[in-house]
Amino acid sequence: MSEPLARTTNASGHLILTHDDAQAAMPFRSFIARWFVRNGLGPVPALDQKRGVIPARIRQGRWVVLCQNPGCNSAVIADENERCFICAECGSPENDRHWYSVQWPPPEVRRRIEELLLARPAISPAQARNRNWEPGESLADLRAQNALYGVGGEN
Ligand SMILES: [Zn+2]
Repeated sequence: MSEPLARTTNASGHLILTHDDAQAAMPFRSFIARWFVRNGLGPVPALDQKRGVIPARIRQGRWVVLCQNPGCNSAVIADENERCFICAECGSPENDRHWYSVQWPPPEVRRRIEELLLARPAISPAQARNRNWEPGESLADLRAQNALYGVGGEN
């Protein structure tokens, strides 16, 4: 086990949600496995033969992993401690039914991204349509967006 990351919060106590924030009742891989079976995909494949890498991104205040199967459009809230993904809706046939590795930004970059997004108003952590980050978007991009909307000037 690695040291738990100090989470970034704003004045309202909001944070950018991960699996454990949103679905704390069930560990990430158990969550995937349960939906895999429920969706008729059978037992979830072994984790020891991961293929490919998908970047985590932020959509509406949540770290998510998007399914890579064209037309599936499924997504799951990402788990910072379980950096893997297989789609529980379609079984990731485009990856030959293998788990992917999930890539997160380095901790310091992640912290800055979250700070900039948490400066944006939201109804609640889970209702945060203005808090989005795509891989490749720089901190300067996020700062410029914040400036455009007059939030987060201190960042
Ligand atoms: Zn899928």
